[in-house]
Amino acid sequence: MIADWGTDERRLSDSVSVLIGTNNGGYPSGNSLVVRGTSETVIIDPSIDVVARGGAPVPVDAVINSHSHEDHIAGNGLFADARVHVHHEDLPGVRSMDGLMAVYGLDGDARESFEQTVLDEFHFTPRPDAHGFTDGHVFDLGGVNVEAVHLPGHTRGHSGFRIDNTFFLSDIDLTGFGPYYGDVWSDLDDFEDSLVKVRDEEADFYVTFHHKGIIEGRETFVEMLDGFHSVIGRRHDAMLDFLGEPHTITEMVEHRFIYRPHVEMAFVTSVEQRSAEMHVARMIRQGEATEVEPGRYQRN
Ligand SMILES: [Zn+2]
Repeated sequence: MIADWGTDERRLSDSVSVLIGTNNGGYPSGNSLVVRGTSETVIIDPSIDVVARGGAPVPVDAVINSHSHEDHIAGNGLFADARVHVHHEDLPGVRSMDGLMAVYGLDGDARESFEQTVLDEFHFTPRPDAHGFTDGHVFDLGGVNVEAVHLPGHTRGHSGFRIDNTFFLSDIDLTGFGPYYGDVWSDLDDFEDSLVKVRDEEADFYVTFHHKGIIEGRETFVEMLDGFHSVIGRRHDAMLDFLGEPHTITEMVEHRFIYRPHVEMAFVTSVEQRSAEMHVARMIRQGEATEVEPGRYQRN
């Protein structure tokens, strides 16, 4: 289970390195973290590239998952002898296929199709033996600690990690796409609270699982985080504009506020639906929109 990563292994300190995935960790791949201690070595979020290459640069004692999404748990089966840890609220998605599908909230044809993808492209291997951790849990690896920071919203258990001079942001991925809170297990308010919480993190390096990869310096991080956060407001405003005329959630789903029209993936409809529902609930709470007739909403 050892593979040569050459220059795709980037060292951030004596104990922390990043395994850069294909296309700088663009989905479906990602950037995994390896943390070497004197007593244990862990891999955080083993990507499909870790599977493709046949392992990490060193033997791994434990896998830590930031949350139970297919791209972050792809290597859980490869490291069959290693322990698996994930925030206790995301345990179901790591332990079984049924649990994983419940996290997304997919059913019917969309579920069937995504189940196949998760098996074929993401090597999903259930780990019924996985252990749960809570916010603030410290993994002492000998000379270096990995400290879990619960940052829910993307999923219920989504967590970041403080290690040495590095903070692993996982799917607070600072991309132009913006925050993803489209699963049944996602929550818009929790996501925003997590964005506020993580803004205080002090580190030399911030690492996202996708695209951006390694971000150097707190100033750059804060600037990117604020840009990422602002996407939520832009989506909200776009939906409010659309509700200048009364519309149903279904019409909002068809219009698309999260994905561009050409994107065709099994989960698009459910993500649009869930996101629209959360923004409309927020509008009603904030007195910005009203349900003018059953299932039809309009801006005030
Ligand atoms: Zn995710």
